[in-house]
Amino acid sequence: MMAISKQDRIIIVGAGAFGLSTALHLSQNGYSDITVFEQDDEIPSMYSAANDLNKIIRAEYEDPFYTDLTIEATEAWKTPLFRPYYHRVGFLHCVSEKAEPKAVDTLNRFRASAEADPRLAKHVVPLNSREDIQDASWQLTGSLPGWKGYFNRYDGYMHSADALRGVHRATQAQGVKFFLGKISGAVEAVVYEQTPNGKKSKGIRTKDGKFHAAALVIIAAGAAAAKLIPEVGQSVVAKSWSVAHVHLTDEETSALRGIPVVYARDLGFFFEPDPKTNLLKLCPMGGGFINTDKDTGVSLPPESRSASLDFLPEVDEAKLRELLRQTLPWLADRPFVRRSLCWFADTSDSDFIVDYVPDTSDSVVVFSGDSGHGFKMFPIVGKWIVDLLASSTGQSNARWRWKTPKPKSGGDWGADVSWRIGNTTEFRDIKRARDHKL
Ligand SMILES: Cc1cc2nc3c(=O)[nH]c(=O)nc-3n(C[C@H](O)[C@H](O)[C@H](O)COP(=O)(O)OP(=O)(O)OC[C@H]3O[C@@H](n4cnc5c(N)ncnc54)[C@H](O)[C@@H]3O)c2cc1C
Repeated sequence: MMAISKQDRIIIVGAGAFGLSTALHLSQNGYSDITVFEQDDEIPSMYSAANDLNKIIRAEYEDPFYTDLTIEATEAWKTPLFRPYYHRVGFLHCVSEKAEPKAVDTLNRFRASAEADPRLAKHVVPLNSREDIQDASWQLTGSLPGWKGYFNRYDGYMHSADALRGVHRATQAQGVKFFLGKISGAVEAVVYEQTPNGKKSKGIRTKDGKFHAAALVIIAAGAAAAKLIPEVGQSVVAKSWSVAHVHLTDEETSALRGIPVVYARDLGFFFEPDPKTNLLKLCPMGGGFINTDKDTGVSLPPESRSASLDFLPEVDEAKLRELLRQTLPWLADRPFVRRSLCWFADTSDSDFIVDYVPDTSDSVVVFSGDSGHGFKMFPIVGKWIVDLLASSTGQSNARWRWKTPKPKSGGDWGADVSWRIGNTTEFRDIKRARDHKL
């Protein structure tokens, strides 16, 4: 392994959750020359999957490895830099009466995992009836037909956009440099040279043609990683889920204060309304949408962000209406605002990738593959890069190694992951259906 010294220049591409946390941990660990490149003009970036009102933090996983990490992250969320964004309101996790067996099985596995872990079990309450649910959250006045599951008081949510803002400020205070914007912040390519020992990166080139030298380039570009490291496109698929909001009055926001994250595995979930904007955020459950290039077979986010805005596929809207009808019926017919598709980096096994890119003489690291569950770890993910750089034997955690591509399944591998319900659809197909209606 090529050792990086603490004075070497390190470039991080992407100021989303993984990039900012990496900048924070590297600077806290004595790395003194860090520059972050971000294609948007500001942070939080409109392209970041984490630029959102809130994200769930749920510690129970089917894989106890991720439970341990979430418990470690939870402790970090309680520290001064992160605690303003952390809201432990509990997680009400259920299925409704029409849930298919896969959703019920997954719920049961999550519940079993929570009940088997003594750190979580004491916070877990079974929910077997409407009364049980209303005991956990009196605000749920809907009929909750057939709802069953559990309530975990250990879990909750974070204000993710504000957390990105806070960590951006903290890294600036630590001396991390930032290049923002579609001209000087957008990275067009990693620049390589041939050395006697093989191919090696010497830095990056931005859209304005400028070259920036670095001893190490860390690609934390989320769903767009394959644009810079094409080989990663075989194992990371850009995928999106819908997000929508309901705009409440001050009184309505107030009435819903303290409500847990309410999650029906077969319908979707919503959060406590944000008191600053009076927005209640909702996400439908589903297999998501991919954007596969017919020639390369690789899925990348659409070039223009506007393609994903003002858009809620019909199938998702129907799920969210049903979710509200069953839980908060007085909101069921309200218009949805701030509707969009949010792009993340999905892998076939839901494991992240935290590793050197092969055949680059350890000059390029790829940090991607968040698989839609990475934000809860925001305070600690950057530490994994610190550990990688300190290791003389590379990535010691087999789960996070560079993935050798499996035979292509067209990106529709959500179905292999037990917690995904529904099929994946091509973005062009839902867009065509929408444009047809307009
Ligand atoms: C709808 C939805 C709901 C989610 N819910 C949860 C949840 O409840 N709990 C949870 O833990 N996680 C959740 N996630 C996942 C979470 O958002 C991600 O795990 C996290 O944002 C991943 O961070 P990242 O830095 O890899 O990618 P991002 O946050 O997307 O950041 C990537 C950044 O790289 C920049 N970039 C890309 N290419 C370039 C380039 N060439 N040059 C310069 N900059 C570039 C982008 O502009 C962007 O800012 C959800 C995701 C979605 C989409």
